[in-house]
Amino acid sequence: MSSLREECGVFGIFGHNNAANLTYLGLYALQHRGQESAGIAISDGTDLSVLKDLGMVNQIFDAETLYSMKGDRSIGHVRYSTTGSNTVANAQPLVVSYSKGKLALSHNGNLVNADELRRRLESSGSTFQTTTDSEVIANLIARLGRNSIREALVECVKSLKGAYSIVILTENELIGLRDPHGIRPLCLGSLDGSYVLASETCALDTIGATFIRDVRPGEIVSISKKGLESVLTPPGKRASCIFEFIYFARPDSRIDGKNVHMVRSEFGRQLSKEHGVKADIVIPIPDSGISAAIGYYLESGIEYGEGFMKNRYVGRTFIQPRQKDRDFGISLKLNPLREVIEGKSVVCIDDSIVRGTTMKKIVSKLKKAGAREVHVRITSPPYKYACFYGIDTPNSKKLIARI
Ligand code: AMP
Repeated sequence: MSSLREECGVFGIFGHNNAANLTYLGLYALQHRGQESAGIAISDGTDLSVLKDLGMVNQIFDAETLYSMKGDRSIGHVRYSTTGSNTVANAQPLVVSYSKGKLALSHNGNLVNADELRRRLESSGSTFQTTTDSEVIANLIARLGRNSIREALVECVKSLKGAYSIVILTENELIGLRDPHGIRPLCLGSLDGSYVLASETCALDTIGATFIRDVRPGEIVSISKKGLESVLTPPGKRASCIFEFIYFARPDSRIDGKNVHMVRSEFGRQLSKEHGVKADIVIPIPDSGISAAIGYYLESGIEYGEGFMKNRYVGRTFIQPRQKDRDFGISLKLNPLREVIEGKSVVCIDDSIVRGTTMKKIVSKLKKAGAREVHVRITSPPYKYACFYGIDTPNSKKLIARI
C-alpha cells in the first residue's frame, strides 16, 4: 500500500567469488539508510536463495551464515519502514518466480501509484504476499518478463510512477534501474573485474571498489557474463531528492557528482551569510549537523566546539514511532558538555526540524547546562509538506513549520 514509506539501501554485485561477504559489507556501509530489516539474495547461476530478517545487518548475518551462502552474484537490502509494516514478510530482497526462473528484487523509494497498479494486477489474477509497493514492481516485471527482464523493465517504467532505485538478481543477470527523475541515488562501481551497484558510494569505498559513475535517471544497466549493457528509457524532469543531501545520505558519499559533506558544509556557509549571529561558539547537533556546523564556523570564524556528546550506539531517533519513545530517545542519544557551553552564547546547527521534538529538547538541555544564549540555525528550508517518495515524514499536520 502506498501508505507505507520506505527508506532503504540497496546493493548488488556480479561475478565475484566473495559475493555474500561483499554484499554484507556493502549493506553494513548502508545501514544508516534502514535499520529495521535486512537481507541478501544470492545465486550460483543455477539456483537463487534469500536470507532476510528483522534487525540490523550484523544481527542477521554471521560468518557461518555468510559462508553457507554460495554464489558469485548477489543483491542485498536494508529497510526502514513505519509502524505496522515491519514484518519479515515485508523484508527484502523479495523473491518471485517468473517464466524463466526466480527473480530477487531490492527497492529503494516509494511509488505513488502502487495501489492502482496492485488493483490492476489483482483483477487479472496476481496474488500478493506483502503490503509493499516493491512486490507490485516484482509482479509487474514477472508478468511482463516473457522474453527478458530488461524488456520487461522498459515496459514497467511506463507504468511506474514515483521514486525507485532498484537492483534485481536472476540466476544469470544483475540489473540496476533508476527512475526517470533520478529521485533516489544509485551508483555503479567495479571490484576485481566485477560490477557493483549501490545506493551510495560509501558502500563502494567500504569494499574497496572503484566508482565508475552514477546510474543515469531512467537507465537500466544489465550485468551478465557478457559484461555491462545499458538501456536508456526516456528521462523525466530531473528531480533528485534534496533530503538525501540535507539528512539522509552519509557525508562521505558522492551523489550525482557531489560529495554530501561538502554540500552540507556549503549549506552551513550560506546559513552564516544569510543568518549570521554574534556568538561565542558554534556547535553541531551530532551527527546530522556536523558538516553544516563546520561550514558555518569556516564562514563566520566563530569558534567551533562539541556541545553535545552523542551515544553512538543509539539509532536514529526518528525510528521510535511513538512520540513518548522519541522524547526519551533524544535524552538517551545526546548529553550536553557543560564545560564547553556554560556561560556562552551558542549557535547550534542542525539539518532539519520536522515535528520540533528534537530542537525543543536540545534548547532546554543547552539552557540547563548553563548556555547564556541559544541561537538555532537550520540548513533545510522549512519542512512544510509530507514526502510521498520514500522519506519518512509524519502527517503534514504534525510538521511544525506548518502549524
Ligand atoms: P523532529 O524532532 O521531529 O523535529 O525531527 C528532527 C530531527 O530528526 C533532526 O535532528 C533530523 O536530523 C532528524 N530527521 C529529520 N528527518 C528525518 C527522517 N526522515 N528520518 C530520521 N530522522 C530524521
